[in-house]
Amino acid sequence: MTDKELRFDLIVVGGGMVGAASACACAGKGWQIAVIETRGPQRTWPVGEVDLRVSALNRASERMLTRLGAWGRIRELGVSPYREMRVWDAVGGGRIHFDSADLGQRDLGHIVENRVTQLALWERLEQSADVTLLCPAGVGEIALGQDAVVVHLRDGRRASARLLVGADGRDSLVRDRVGIASHGWAYDQQAIVANVEVERWHQETAWQRFLPTGPLAFLPLRDGRCAVVWSVAEPRARELLQLEEPEFRNALEDAFEHRLGAIGQIGPRAAFPLRLKHAEHYVLPRLALIGDAAHAVHPLAGQGVNLGLLDAAALAAALDEARERDRDIGGLWALRRYERARRGENMLMLAAMDGFKRLFGNRILPLAAARSAGLVAVDRIPPLKHLFMRQALGVGTDVPPLARP
Ligand SMILES: Cc1cc2nc3c(=O)[nH]c(=O)nc-3n(C[C@H](O)[C@H](O)[C@H](O)COP(=O)(O)OP(=O)(O)OC[C@H]3O[C@@H](n4cnc5c(N)ncnc54)[C@H](O)[C@@H]3O)c2cc1C
Repeated sequence: MTDKELRFDLIVVGGGMVGAASACACAGKGWQIAVIETRGPQRTWPVGEVDLRVSALNRASERMLTRLGAWGRIRELGVSPYREMRVWDAVGGGRIHFDSADLGQRDLGHIVENRVTQLALWERLEQSADVTLLCPAGVGEIALGQDAVVVHLRDGRRASARLLVGADGRDSLVRDRVGIASHGWAYDQQAIVANVEVERWHQETAWQRFLPTGPLAFLPLRDGRCAVVWSVAEPRARELLQLEEPEFRNALEDAFEHRLGAIGQIGPRAAFPLRLKHAEHYVLPRLALIGDAAHAVHPLAGQGVNLGLLDAAALAAALDEARERDRDIGGLWALRRYERARRGENMLMLAAMDGFKRLFGNRILPLAAARSAGLVAVDRIPPLKHLFMRQALGVGTDVPPLARP
């Protein structure tokens, strides 16, 4: 082997939250692992600054990150628990309230900056003797062979392994290079994000108003501000981004019905285009796709990372089983176990989020009345409501060992 030829058991392309978690979950098991990432995590930021990219991490994700040894560091860097959720329909008037206390839980999850989760996982990887971080590094050609996969790096090196894990996000180059098609559509919507000051305390509550133009969420931050995620049609998003701060504030206060009083200072605004994408297959011999590379979902229920982390946990479980039975970790015997565990579950979530988006985007009055009646009914039937809460916590279904209590 020359220094241009690198050999591993596992190569993970993409060291974002999901790819880094996948590498962590496979470390310490005797496999040599490489993570190929174009840009490393942000290491420092001004004290007290909260980034625009935040995610609501549920209990299953917290458990998994705890097992991977990253949750303590994540807490140290800063998390914001949310104990309640209040959701209401702008047209039909229906509403629903979820309270973690009803389930005997301390919270429903935490709002965490994406860069915090990624950094805590990278720090774990840097401490692993069997993990090589190839960063910054870009991927060129990928050749899936009978016994190994070969990844050509842009700097001329070649890395081979028994399994390649594609965790390189929604526009996955790995998925394209190995010829796996993905289905879906653009929502012609963008999510505008901004961190804003609010007059009244957010009560550690995640607030979401469904408007016919798209959902608007106010997520509680530990400094008392809220992280706003406001999905609107593309032309409206462009308009909102260009508005001067006072006009944007007025539009946001109206859309949120002044639920937390007047809005104070508004930080920088950014917009992310929204689309639904689902890979036709998650696996091929010597290849597995995880996270957004396999499925991208509408952010209205904040499930993208949570689903991706479960993919990483399920893949680790399938590889463990292969190792115990002396099977090839890049063979279909192991990889189909992963795909079976996750594809149906992810498909259900994609369909549910898409259905919600369409249902609440409809202004037809009888339909609006029916969906509001549905919200009120669920709110009044505790067993049904608890089922929804357990699902949101990620404790309602059969989860992989890494995410179990
Ligand atoms: C507005 C908004 C709000 C959201 N809110 C939530 C929420 O509350 N909760 C939630 O669970 N999810 C949320 N999501 C979804 C969540 O952000 C994604 O599901 C998550 O980022 C996916 O993680 P990932 O690691 O799979 O992909 P990514 O985060 O896209 O990471 C991919 C990584 O791969 C690297 N990469 C890409 N190409 C290459 C290459 N060719 N070679 C090497 N490296 C490469 C990138 O640099 C990056 O580090 C939200 C999304 C949006 C847009």
